Amino acid sequence: MNWNHMVQRMAGAAALAMAASIPVAAQVSPAAPPGMPMNPLPIGDTSAIAKEAQSWLADLIKINTTNPPGNEQLAAMYIAGILEKEGIKSEILDLTPGRSALLARLKSTAMADPSKALLLVAHMDVVGVEKPKWTVDPFAAVQKDGYLYGRGAIDDKGMLAANLAAFIALKRANPRLNRDVIFLATADEEQFGDASVKILIAKHWDKFAAGFALNEGGEVLLKNGKVQYVAVQASEKVPVNVTVVARGTSGHASMPTKDNAVVHLAAAVAKIGNYSAPVHFTTIVRRYFEQLAAIEDDEMGKWMRSLDAPDRGEHAQRVISDASPLWNSMLRDSIAPTMLTAGVRANVIPGEARANLNIRLLPGDTIDVLLAELKKLVNDPQIRFEIQPDAGLAAPPSSLENDFYATITKVAGREFSDAWGR
Ligand SMILES: [Zn+2]
Repeated sequence: MNWNHMVQRMAGAAALAMAASIPVAAQVSPAAPPGMPMNPLPIGDTSAIAKEAQSWLADLIKINTTNPPGNEQLAAMYIAGILEKEGIKSEILDLTPGRSALLARLKSTAMADPSKALLLVAHMDVVGVEKPKWTVDPFAAVQKDGYLYGRGAIDDKGMLAANLAAFIALKRANPRLNRDVIFLATADEEQFGDASVKILIAKHWDKFAAGFALNEGGEVLLKNGKVQYVAVQASEKVPVNVTVVARGTSGHASMPTKDNAVVHLAAAVAKIGNYSAPVHFTTIVRRYFEQLAAIEDDEMGKWMRSLDAPDRGEHAQRVISDASPLWNSMLRDSIAPTMLTAGVRANVIPGEARANLNIRLLPGDTIDVLLAELKKLVNDPQIRFEIQPDAGLAAPPSSLENDFYATITKVAGREFSDAWGR
């Protein structure tokens, strides 16, 4: 990670980000309106706090918060200790044994105005590791070649440390705040269970109610050490798991039959794997490509501008989709087969075979419409689709027409302008 600007590159683990990008090149040195000087950041030079944040990140990585079981309480206590040294009172909200969230607030006035408050939120838990595939200890926070390696470095402890740094820098600078700033470290983001933000909201919403929130999902993209763009996620795809179930006659493997469930499942998965759902443009995605076109090379920029042109839109969509799995997924509902289960013995044909499809719907799309398409495509009476009950929640996109987004745009242009050598 490049900590010069507390750059965070975050991978949306739960759902694919739909981002509006702010092309930095187009934002360099924005002219201040007459009579409105560009104020420097109240916290000034961030290099010292960035160093501190780096050591907090290393410590947080060393606290193993693999979910399950999470054990986020340990990370919450560590953060509470840091805040206490800064004279900031925090509150640890226990959710289930060993699992807690942490909350702290910088007040603007005696009476809080939740509609104006800004919430900085990041999760403390991480997903499990396949240890043999790691070249370093995932919980040792190894530094190598200018990078910090460890489980959660990107998702989401990097952001957690960056939020903490921003919050503490603000406290140290002691500016006159015109809104409350709330720091929230959450638990159980990766499993969304009994210790997750869902429960936190149900029990404690009044403690962190806010008009604006910054959470994970966006990214700051570095290329050859230069910031290319600052992407702000404003909408999210909706994850749905669907099980494909194939049924057939079970029997001895020495006498194969044509209705073998494994064969039917394999054929169905192959068809689904080759399928591309139709392109649907959302306002945010359209804006993302419009803005990204300004900083991409001429060829790619041209295709991005042609995405919904009547004559060559379809070709442009293909070029863009082939160029990047991320772009492909921003344009359509996506389907990824992720798990296969069948058989109990090497010489027995199983009566049933199953595959899991991890589907990400564009906001506004429904699973029923997509499944109707897949049924037609598979066209096999031995195949059935079961929608799993763990689907994500559909949420409306965040508005990009407000002072908050305008401020992010302005500050991103100013903060990263030197990345372009200006
Ligand atoms: Zn995450």
